[in-house]
Amino acid sequence: MPHASPLVAVLVVGLGLAFVFGTIANRLKLSPIVGYLLAGVAIGPFTPGFVADPHLTLQLAEIGVILLMFGVGLHFSLKDLVSVRAIVLPGALLQVAGSTLIGAGIAWLLGWRPAACLVFGLALAIASTVVTMRALQERRLIDSQRGRITVGWLIVQDVLTVVALVLLPPLAPGLKNGASLAALDIWALAGSLGLTLGKLVAFAALMLVVGRRLIPAILHYVAHTGSRELFRLAVLTVALGVAFAAAQLFGVSIALGAFFAGMILSESPLSQRAAEESLPLRDAFAVLFFVSVGMLFDPTVLLRQPVAFALTLLAVMGGTAGIAFLLMRAFGQSIANAAFIAVGLAQIGEFSFILIDLGIGLDLVTKEARDLILGTSIVSIVANPALFAAAVQLKRRLEPLKPDRITEPEPLAMTQLEGHAVLVGYGRVGRLVAEGLRADAVPFLVIEDAPDAVESLRAQGIEVLAGNGAMARVLAAANLARARMLFVAIPEAFEAGQIVEQARRANASLDIVARAHFDAEVEHLAARGANAVIMGEREIARAMLEHARERMSIGETPERLSIPDGRVESE
Ligand code: AMP
Repeated sequence: MPHASPLVAVLVVGLGLAFVFGTIANRLKLSPIVGYLLAGVAIGPFTPGFVADPHLTLQLAEIGVILLMFGVGLHFSLKDLVSVRAIVLPGALLQVAGSTLIGAGIAWLLGWRPAACLVFGLALAIASTVVTMRALQERRLIDSQRGRITVGWLIVQDVLTVVALVLLPPLAPGLKNGASLAALDIWALAGSLGLTLGKLVAFAALMLVVGRRLIPAILHYVAHTGSRELFRLAVLTVALGVAFAAAQLFGVSIALGAFFAGMILSESPLSQRAAEESLPLRDAFAVLFFVSVGMLFDPTVLLRQPVAFALTLLAVMGGTAGIAFLLMRAFGQSIANAAFIAVGLAQIGEFSFILIDLGIGLDLVTKEARDLILGTSIVSIVANPALFAAAVQLKRRLEPLKPDRITEPEPLAMTQLEGHAVLVGYGRVGRLVAEGLRADAVPFLVIEDAPDAVESLRAQGIEVLAGNGAMARVLAAANLARARMLFVAIPEAFEAGQIVEQARRANASLDIVARAHFDAEVEHLAARGANAVIMGEREIARAMLEHARERMSIGETPERLSIPDGRVESE
């Protein structure tokens, strides 16, 4: 029998085992990531049985990283990035410095050379973008304030890694011999640093000036051909192409390149579709990322060096998280937000492996350091979902009335309307309600927190309060005490419940209609004081039945419909 190619073997065995182990982890109520990592260990060189080609796995994992970062960029605008710079620039720089010191301290305790201390410390200071972004995306927290800070923070870390990767080779001879700074060729060093930063800036400028026009234009053109397949290809070409070019031509990391490509597209109305089209591939390849991490891990390190391993783990999960938490508190973030951001950084991954591999290549550290880093990475990645869940819980407990999508506070003037209707949410549902109210000449105002929707409302001359309807100050400006009706047309029942509850308190006779998608939500909203709760799915079923009745001109009862009758024929 001919042998399957190694690439096919990696894909089949890697994805297949990840599927099996992921499903088992899911059954055991663990994060599927645990399963993916174990699948990697199983096909790695340190366990018996089939050994997949680690180089191929890593390359495939890179595609996952590209698509993941592209997806994150799609939800992130340049404005978001600029809006958090005052926090993330000093924050990430100080955190990386602090974490490096802690890591270097541990290496020093282990009796390593100064050069090894530095590389080891750096590798421990940089969190895995893949792990954090996945967690943020799963919880749809990228557009929240804390999500923006976390993403910005990771971007700064990413840039720092690129700089470190460039500076280490010229510094290596000096570091290794412990030579004094004077012996180093400062000019050569400044030259390579300048060149790296210059390339980074050139890449960013090119993307902002040319890419910003060209990329959306290409996608618009393809979208108009009406071919879904071509559109999908266009999205993939842009994501992979920009990341690849960024790495090859500009020395920028592929992750950063892909993020930029996504961010450029985020302003285009096609960004949503682009995200949907790249989703399935992204998920498959991101799984291979975790498999590849598992493959590199030699589990015996836990037995060989238990103390060093425990200290390394503590540095990442305690040290980095502690530093990030304190810095965020110092920058005025709430306890819950600071804890969330700290948790997001309390693990290490791809960047640490790249740094430590370079260190080994330059003969600055021993392979032992890589085993410690890999072990720490696995344990910290496995622990991460539980920590995230705890941080989300903490926020719910400490700040129940501050859900995530808070737009920057804008001074809100109290509406002049009385006897009016208030509509919360101007999306697929809210737009139709607004149209109806307009047609019936009912005076109304809209509460909406998405900037695009607010803009469109203003352009149509509809009164709008920009902000999250669950916030007391926003609701207060809607003059609910004198309103007649409230439509809560948002999909999220937790926030909707808070709105209903506050509105009921403000006005006992207000007629409140809310939107729900599950039976439990109907009960939740009714219990908080809604007069009527409309469940989308039931209405769809009702309309489908109505349609069927008209077409088939059969009786009124749905029971009869469920028993197909041979005499009934559709047109
Ligand atoms: P759709 O699911 O298409 O009907 O969209 C829901 C709309 O409600 C979107 O435009 C959201 O921006 C908006 N929305 C969701 N939650 C809130 C909230 N808490 N306050 C104000 N607007 C919201």
